[in-house]
Amino acid sequence: MTDLPLWFDPSQVFISGQWRAPAGGDTLPVVDPSTGAEIARIARGTETDITDAIDAAEAALAGDWGAMTAAERGRILFKLGDLVLQNSDALATLEASDVGKPLKQAKNDVIALARYCEFYGGAADKLTGETIPFNAGFTVYTLREPHGVTGHIIPWNYPMQIIGRSIGAALATGNACVLKPAEEACLTALAFADLAQQAGLPAGALNVVPGLGVEAGAALTAEPRVRHLSFTGSVATGKKVQIAAAENIVPVTLELGGKSPQVVFEDADLDKALPFLVNAGIQNAGQTCSAGSRILVQRSIHDELAARLAEAISALKVAPAMDDADVGPLVSARQKGIVDGFLAQATPDQILAQAALPDGLPEGGNYIAPTLLGHLAPDHSLAQDEIFGPVQTLIPFEDEEDAIRIANGTKYGLVASVWSADGGRQMRLAKRLHAGQVFLNNYGAAGGVELPFGGVGHSGHGREKGFEALYAFTALKTVAAHHG
Ligand code: NAD
Repeated sequence: MTDLPLWFDPSQVFISGQWRAPAGGDTLPVVDPSTGAEIARIARGTETDITDAIDAAEAALAGDWGAMTAAERGRILFKLGDLVLQNSDALATLEASDVGKPLKQAKNDVIALARYCEFYGGAADKLTGETIPFNAGFTVYTLREPHGVTGHIIPWNYPMQIIGRSIGAALATGNACVLKPAEEACLTALAFADLAQQAGLPAGALNVVPGLGVEAGAALTAEPRVRHLSFTGSVATGKKVQIAAAENIVPVTLELGGKSPQVVFEDADLDKALPFLVNAGIQNAGQTCSAGSRILVQRSIHDELAARLAEAISALKVAPAMDDADVGPLVSARQKGIVDGFLAQATPDQILAQAALPDGLPEGGNYIAPTLLGHLAPDHSLAQDEIFGPVQTLIPFEDEEDAIRIANGTKYGLVASVWSADGGRQMRLAKRLHAGQVFLNNYGAAGGVELPFGGVGHSGHGREKGFEALYAFTALKTVAAHHG
């Protein structure tokens, strides 16, 4: 077994500030994607554990947690951010071992998690209502109140970042959270819960129940006492979550991924663009909801860009996560199977470049050679579907209208980028692209915890990150006082 820096027992659930075995007594394997070896066991939480977690969250709201001021909540989040940074090596090792991401990418995720704690810690006491001019004899104002118990279902690709943006905003606004991490990657969620307790978070304000989606996840979405659901993951599961939320009439935030375009015009600075064009597709082995996985290029520079991308993608190094190369393994054998299935659709002439997998990779690891695909019609499934692997697609366009048509021509709309020196064109595309975020001559704005994030279309709805998330995690109450 790999030596994991575990200071808690991952085979337990964390409810009401206590570690205990899951009610059903069962556990699930933690498989290292780099080797295929089992490296730990996590709890297989079930409906009983979810019920207990919601009881604990309700008790926290009725007790110490509910009585805290916004400034006190903020102070705990600041302290938590410090603890995250102090434990940065351990958290990065856990994430790299669990998800398979190269260590330096896991370290970036630790920094992002700390930044979310700082950002939402600072924001906690700055969220205000307003007074509204109204009829004579009235004073009208609004209050932003926590929903109560919030449910958080997260995927395996960026556990720490998604915990930061979702739990950070929910705690800052005074909700009590029940977190169901993905069965493929739970370790940092459990570590975070322990650090939160060390930071002084009262028992029950954050509860973590690992388990299967169809068991623990479905139980959390079915519970009428959960007053807000935040889900990140696949479209198929997102639909189920929204249907479950509808049964209980609760608001739901859905973040469901995409097939985000990077639109490159002939006047773009290709030297500047190239690293972004590559990295936005292969970061985290392409398992990124906001991956810039469709490169749309003006036909006049198609061949030049194809050659440069081919050279860059062929040179990418693939290695086990802890060897810290450019690309690690995919999270699971299942995910590798999905990506292999997509690649099998490509004809030989559509594979423009492929990196070589080095000799000596562990046999049980889920490695995929980074690949550049081209000669694809924009409606080809490889150009439409979220592949979630280290696969870039290159599609030519003729002019601005054609670029916008192809860019907007999927069911998704999460993010988009525009590479052009023409300021007017940048502004026109920023308005017309279907996306929740548009980047002009950059991609991703280095994560930007301050920047509202979310999609349109099948990429989902609702916004996380930034101040905007604080609105989502509160219910607005209008108070109208008639005093004559
Ligand atoms: P998924 O949607 O099944 O899993 C995401 C989370 O939902 C996990 O915590 C899972 O346990 C939970 N879940 C599953 N079924 C549930 C249910 N019925 N009720 C409540 N919760 C449930 O995603 P996946 O199967 O791990 O990945 C499949 C595909 O989803 C990937 O190939 C990728 O395209 C996409 N994906 C997108 C993102 C993203 O960030 N947008 C993240 C992961 C996966």
